[in-house]
Amino acid sequence: MRNIFLLGCFAFSSMAIANQNNPKTEFTDQAALHKIQSQISANNIERDIAKLVSFGTRHTLSETESDTRGIGAARRWIKAELEKISKACGNCLEVYFQSETISGERRIPDPVEVVSVIAVQKGTTDPGRYVIMSGDIDSRVSDVMNYTDDSPGANDNASGVAGTLEAARVLSKYKFNGSIVYAALAGEEQGLFGGRIMAEQAQKDGWRIKAVLNNDMIGNIEGINGVINNTTARIFAEGTRQTETPEEARLRRFTGGEVDSPSRNLARYIDWMADRYIPNLDTMVIYRLDRFRRGGHHRPFNDLGYPGVRIMETNEHYDRQHQDLRTENGIVYGDTLDGVNFEYAAKLTALNAVSLAGMAWAPTPPAKVEIKGAVQPSTTLSWQAADKIQNPNLAGYKIYWRYTDAPQWQFSRYVGDVTEFTLKNVVIDNYFFGVASVSKDGYESPVVFPGAAGAFGE
Ligand SMILES: [Zn+2]
Repeated sequence: MRNIFLLGCFAFSSMAIANQNNPKTEFTDQAALHKIQSQISANNIERDIAKLVSFGTRHTLSETESDTRGIGAARRWIKAELEKISKACGNCLEVYFQSETISGERRIPDPVEVVSVIAVQKGTTDPGRYVIMSGDIDSRVSDVMNYTDDSPGANDNASGVAGTLEAARVLSKYKFNGSIVYAALAGEEQGLFGGRIMAEQAQKDGWRIKAVLNNDMIGNIEGINGVINNTTARIFAEGTRQTETPEEARLRRFTGGEVDSPSRNLARYIDWMADRYIPNLDTMVIYRLDRFRRGGHHRPFNDLGYPGVRIMETNEHYDRQHQDLRTENGIVYGDTLDGVNFEYAAKLTALNAVSLAGMAWAPTPPAKVEIKGAVQPSTTLSWQAADKIQNPNLAGYKIYWRYTDAPQWQFSRYVGDVTEFTLKNVVIDNYFFGVASVSKDGYESPVVFPGAAGAFGE
């Protein structure tokens, strides 16, 4: 978000001295995040997309026996690659297949095992708290049931899987307080099955999911509308949460929160990271679940109330999506390798990596955030103290606020390690408020809007 970037620059000039005394009162520039950004390799991403394309088709119903063709070979290669990454970090990843047999569905009529590949990098102090990066293994052509023809799916969505593998390669060299999950999800094109299976299992296992960064098409820079641009990306984030009860909706009518679901504040967090750590990238936060009437694998997580967004290119090219490979009237159709810009895919991968790292190093987002202040000159926020054993690096909390029609948080105040604070003479009616937790070295959680509408969970 451009205007906030300028705001950030303005703040820098007067901040240098304050930073020396108290790194957590203002934005702390993190050398480690710049380093992570610089370590993401476009060459690795290109190699991995080419490898995924080499399996011919990765259609969900395609063959599973061959070692060179079909979705079975593709998922075994992804698992082997994650195991290789794990070996290089002293077995820091737990790598496994997650599967369920699906049948009787419109796009999966006969029984098929839908198999995702998951790698978990356990956090050191709060392993039950998770941030997730995902891409999709499967591909398709014009007929969604055609599982034999070549279906390279280079951008949709080998790019998302290759980015996820590369993020794992870089982030596995570090240790984080919270857990990071790298997921290659299956069955996306047939009806978002892999994401549904993973979200339901996570809920059963009591995972405290704070973020799902679903990457679906992160490599195209030439739009069907003629725009060629490698400096913007989109973050799709739903509005009011799907799990909101009628009573919560009634309350929200009087308190606000329509534009402050945890998914939206997750999107603001990623946007903020782009402005600070990714050169030549400006993200558009889009106030929608996904593209108009279209779907992606963050949705099954949103369905269960987890914060999740879709990260993707700004300029899509429909001749290169879900198309039989062919030339018609001089137009070349198909999702082939030459339609992917690997430097751009690396840029979006770096955006994921710094966002995951920032959240996994930060304390958990504040829970049970409440606000009061009607008919008073001041606004009081309260929240639950973060568990000190899970969050030994917690320094304290920062209150953020903004004008109600502003897209990004504009004002902030570090208030220390307290669980309640009153902003004197800041009138509640005129702003939206939220609270972030801050680590001793200045890592911040996403901002949490008060009440059920904004909650990131326990
Ligand atoms: Zn697709």
